[in-house]
Amino acid sequence: MDCIFCEIIKGNIPSTKVYEDDFVTAFNDLNPQMPVHVLIVPKKHIASANDIEENDAELIGKVFLAAKKIAASMGLENGYRIINNCGEDAGQTVKHLHFHLLGGKTMGDKII
Ligand code: AMP
Ligand code: ZN
Repeated sequence: MDCIFCEIIKGNIPSTKVYEDDFVTAFNDLNPQMPVHVLIVPKKHIASANDIEENDAELIGKVFLAAKKIAASMGLENGYRIINNCGEDAGQTVKHLHFHLLGGKTMGDKII
């Protein structure tokens, strides 16, 4: 299987890891859109949010618990945004479920 994020998780492609546990890894986005732009990725290959299954529910909870720890470790006490792009219309480019953790300055524009 040809998946960049699986290769990053295995350590075959370099990344700047900021967090890792048994279920989740997180690394800096190659093309940051904010002072802090981390990708939080479950180690299990799930193609998109639309491919999450019932037995992944606990894993997805672990992603958000990791997000909270990463945000604290990166000094985002003032808040942050978590974004998931799911599928073609949302512009998902990497087909391994990931959540963008963004912060480090006040975010003006909101879609919702
Ligand atoms: P999305 O468009 O939501 O699928 O987000 C994919 C993100 O992965 C983009 O923000 C890219 O900049 C980022 N990205 C792609 N390849 C790498 C990589 N090798 N290391 C870190 N980030 C990457
Ligand atoms: Zn993958």
